Amino acid sequence: MNKFKFTILKKAKKGLARRGVIETPHGNVETPAFIPVGTQAALKSITPDEAKSLGIQIIFANTYHLFLRPGEKIIKKMGGLHKFMNWDRPIITDSGGFQVFSLGKGLEQGVGKIASIFPSEHKKTQLEKQISNKSRIKILEDGVEFRSHIDGNKILLTPEKSIQIQKDLGADFILAFDECTSPLAGYEYTKKALERTHRWEVKSLKAFQQKINSKKQIQNQAIYGIVQGGAYKDLREKSAKFIGGMDFFGMAIGGSLGKSKKDMHKILDWTIPLLPENRPRHLLGIGGIEDIKEGVKRGIDTFDCAAPTRMARNGTLLTKERQINIMNAKYRTDKNPIEKGCQCYTCQNYSCAYLRHLFWAKEMLAGRLATIHNLYFMMELMKKIRKNI
Ligand SMILES: [Zn+2]
Repeated sequence: MNKFKFTILKKAKKGLARRGVIETPHGNVETPAFIPVGTQAALKSITPDEAKSLGIQIIFANTYHLFLRPGEKIIKKMGGLHKFMNWDRPIITDSGGFQVFSLGKGLEQGVGKIASIFPSEHKKTQLEKQISNKSRIKILEDGVEFRSHIDGNKILLTPEKSIQIQKDLGADFILAFDECTSPLAGYEYTKKALERTHRWEVKSLKAFQQKINSKKQIQNQAIYGIVQGGAYKDLREKSAKFIGGMDFFGMAIGGSLGKSKKDMHKILDWTIPLLPENRPRHLLGIGGIEDIKEGVKRGIDTFDCAAPTRMARNGTLLTKERQINIMNAKYRTDKNPIEKGCQCYTCQNYSCAYLRHLFWAKEMLAGRLATIHNLYFMMELMKKIRKNI
């Protein structure tokens, strides 16, 4: 029996926005939804109980990191990801492909998903510099060969291997294995990579459907395919038709989303109308407030991004008007909360002055209180978006 179901409850009169619900064995996800990233099977600094109280419905964990440490076999032995991290709501894992890209080629070239965002912003750490010097990931027909960012060991990640790892981790949603091409890749390379990615996705789906482990496990997981194709219209259309025609539960849009936000909107406009309407759509790695609003308008159901929690740890806080940097001198004697009217624990109990002090004193509580506010902010934003559809 399939325990997964996506139902569209309401469609917007204008545009492609829709409100829906994804049913899973670990409860429902109301969409559009924002999925916070807990890379190492932890939402940095907050407990699962706190995450629930903020309204978080589902979290995203990274296969690449968990595969390297502690290893999927240990997590399986400990009862799977849900039990291991004491989170009984839905979880999604990625295929590991993006991390191979971002810790491999991304570091070499200094680029992220949207080329214009990262090159100037990303300062390499010493470790990243060392790894990037020797990473040189090799893309083969069978998969990707790369060096672990932890110990430098050589590893071959294939579609079959990625699915096996994700089955062992046991998240509700898993992703097909793909190559995330760089925004700097030219047309010919992106085309070649896309064709290979499609072959990998066929293999991923086949490996997923194989009843190697047990019947039960298959029913307890659902798989998303990933549309690639860089910023090239014909490739995106080709990929949307190909992946949309396969037996995936949902469709994710991944890879390079171009060189600007405008490019990203165009890519969504090309892609979404070619995907089956009745299946959930996920936009990988995007979670800016405006990006979410634009994505929802274009028919995206779920988003994941590490930014709100990463920003919180750096003292950047989200408010309705703008992002604020709590380290700023003007908050030294500010008795107000981060945002007046915010119902989060942090805003209900602490002043900006105290929060600023914690950040300057490098107290652990600083990142925690900031994370609570930013995640609460994101959940309230999504509630409002759902209400408005
Ligand atoms: Zn707050």
